[in-house]
Amino acid sequence: MAWCIEPFINASHTTDGHYQPCCIAQVDKTAGRTTENLTPIEAMNTQYMQDLRAEMNAGTPGKLVNHACSNCIFNESHGVKSRRQKQNNKYQNEKTMATVNRTTSDPSSAIVKQDLEYVNLKMLGNICNLKCVMCNPASSSKIAAEYKKHGMLAATQPMIANPMATDNRVNYLNNILEILETVNRFSLIGGEAFVHPDFEYIFEKILTVKNIHKLELFIITNGTVIPDYVLKSADRFKNLLINFSVDGIGKKAEYIRTGTEWEVVDENIKLTLQSNASVGFNVTGQVLNAGYLHEVYDYIVNSLGLPAETASWDNIVTNPQMHNMINLPDKLKEQYLSAYNDSGMLAIPGLKTQINTLKLPQQSSLEFTRFIKNRHQFDKIRNTDLLECYPEFIDYQYLLENK
Ligand code: SF4
Repeated sequence: MAWCIEPFINASHTTDGHYQPCCIAQVDKTAGRTTENLTPIEAMNTQYMQDLRAEMNAGTPGKLVNHACSNCIFNESHGVKSRRQKQNNKYQNEKTMATVNRTTSDPSSAIVKQDLEYVNLKMLGNICNLKCVMCNPASSSKIAAEYKKHGMLAATQPMIANPMATDNRVNYLNNILEILETVNRFSLIGGEAFVHPDFEYIFEKILTVKNIHKLELFIITNGTVIPDYVLKSADRFKNLLINFSVDGIGKKAEYIRTGTEWEVVDENIKLTLQSNASVGFNVTGQVLNAGYLHEVYDYIVNSLGLPAETASWDNIVTNPQMHNMINLPDKLKEQYLSAYNDSGMLAIPGLKTQINTLKLPQQSSLEFTRFIKNRHQFDKIRNTDLLECYPEFIDYQYLLENK
């Protein structure tokens, strides 16, 4: 594997403003390609991006691809569908291939804003109101504060990541608004977008874009807060898609996404369904829902009455590896698969990626031990209890003794 459409058609950066080939690509933060000194279009045309695209076109992963695309490489080598495969399927068309061919045959031909198919900038930084178990300080200010309190964050590392530094804020926003005049899909990602103090200001700016009736605005949310003014503006867009991250239902949702109240999320989902916004779900497969995807399916399909395709089911946590369901012990995987078999879930096409991952043998017992130790450590800090929601893990508490 090597070739991917993402670095040709999408602009992305991390919550602290480091440009990356796509939203999951690894970044060399010492390289200094940031929102402070580059516009998104300039970032697409740096020597690094040209070299990365050339390496992809050559067909064999080299140093740059092996580093940037390690998530996709890992997934593909373990039989899990990668973002690369999904995006190649979704975005390869006449227009995007014209961009690929032009920039490949003439490396001096720059990528221009009209070439972008979508923009995936984590422009809202890491401000978030939750501490999801699989998340990290770079993506949640709440986790950063927790790490700081318990001495797990370097003293020099800021708790708030912000790609819009004060002195370039106006330029940064103007660059994005300019891109939005030609791009058809824009993802507004945090942290948690709706709790960001600047969200309303940024949203109002987006409403001024002339292209708005052609724009699909995609907002990922944990569902704890849904501003009324957002729902009321839904019909200004070609499509306003509010994508709820739902990995569990009830107490499991509350355990996985520490700080959430499931009843509030459920209410906000139902409120959004009554508006002109579209609703989607992101169900991210991981150790803590590997045996309970039927509960999420039942909620979306039977309780809300929505088609199963409303949710994107085939995402799997691969970073950090300890939360990757591939690392579950084989005995637990068999137990979960047998329950899915009994309830007919094995036949649900959308769950293929997750089910196939459960069918693979345990990848790393070390990562699973890390998971058990990590939960023990954070249960103490957060006053939560893994075993209350997941009693099956009682059989693995002995791993706490392992060095
Ligand atoms: S191969 Fe994967 S990580 Fe690399 S740019 Fe494509 S989607 Fe992103």
